[in-house]
Amino acid sequence: MVQKRKIKLKKPAVILLRIFGSILVIVLVAFFFYFYQINTLCELGYSKEASKNILFSWKKDYVMSIGENKTLNAAFESDDYLEKYLENYANIKYQNHKNLIKNINLLLKKGYSNSNISMILAHGSDADVFEFAKRDKVRYLEEFYSLDYAKLSYYDRYLHYSDETGEDEETTVLFVNLDMDKNDYEDALVVKEFSSDMLVNKHRKLTEKFEPKDLVKIDSKYASDDMKASKVAIEAFKKMASDASKDGLGIVINSSYRSYQDQVDICNSYKDLYGEGYVQKYVAQPGYSEHQTGLAFDIGSTSSKIFAQSKEYEWMQENAYKYGFILRFPKKYESITGFRSEPWHYRYVGKKIANYIHSENITLEEYYVKFLDK
Ligand SMILES: [Zn+2]
Repeated sequence: MVQKRKIKLKKPAVILLRIFGSILVIVLVAFFFYFYQINTLCELGYSKEASKNILFSWKKDYVMSIGENKTLNAAFESDDYLEKYLENYANIKYQNHKNLIKNINLLLKKGYSNSNISMILAHGSDADVFEFAKRDKVRYLEEFYSLDYAKLSYYDRYLHYSDETGEDEETTVLFVNLDMDKNDYEDALVVKEFSSDMLVNKHRKLTEKFEPKDLVKIDSKYASDDMKASKVAIEAFKKMASDASKDGLGIVINSSYRSYQDQVDICNSYKDLYGEGYVQKYVAQPGYSEHQTGLAFDIGSTSSKIFAQSKEYEWMQENAYKYGFILRFPKKYESITGFRSEPWHYRYVGKKIANYIHSENITLEEYYVKFLDK
């Protein structure tokens, strides 16, 4: 009796044990499989969060067929993910924007193509794209935004400027980025930081207090008067003057650093001599002269009173860039620089930039728009 009972009691326990064991095995296998899948996706470049969402939305095979894709990763991380746009996400170029997927959804809804959206995203911040997405689908997109440096937030200004002037897209983007669709001296951007590549012109101004941080006295050997300049610029000038003298040429400095107040005085004296119209046209207003940066020099020659006719002028045209200087206001670029030609006015920008400007035959304004204005 006792033995029989024992056998009867064992059976359900074994069955229970077997069921429990099977469940455990299934759970373990499922867990193992799950972590294996997550791991595969992570190794492919997806975040843990994205990988989890990829698995639970049954899109693993699709994602695996695409491979690493930052936009897809962002989509699967985002609450804004919409399954109907899955293929679009995979084909739109990623930008590090907080609301990337939300903005992509808005632009897709407006009817933009994947390549158009990639272009839009590349030219503005998160906020710029969001603002842009509010407008009706625009007609001229590639025209402006095939240029790397075109700004999304300037769309209306580009359109307006090209309509008004009939200029091509490249000129339009360049001029608007330089704020040349605004009047001279109007609403100018304040340049606060001193650097050898700083841009100061009729749309980029210095404050009354601005002073170059490395201002030093110029040795009387190089300057006709008691003058100061930025140290980095005068050191480069000395090397240049020394090499020029080896070629039997004498280059000197007629004007260098001018404070804000100096420029006020210059404007006033020219006004007395030639009148208001002359000053407006030819003399930079206080704060708008790059002489205040300490990086600009008006160069003279020891051989001729007219610099533009001197051998030194010719030598400077061929060699100045090697020392980091550029002719700042060339005749053919008056419309870009906003200043009439000044054959004597050289500006220190550093060797790398001077070399580029010289070889590409462009202005500091163009260099700034393409490489410095971020
Ligand atoms: Zn000058």
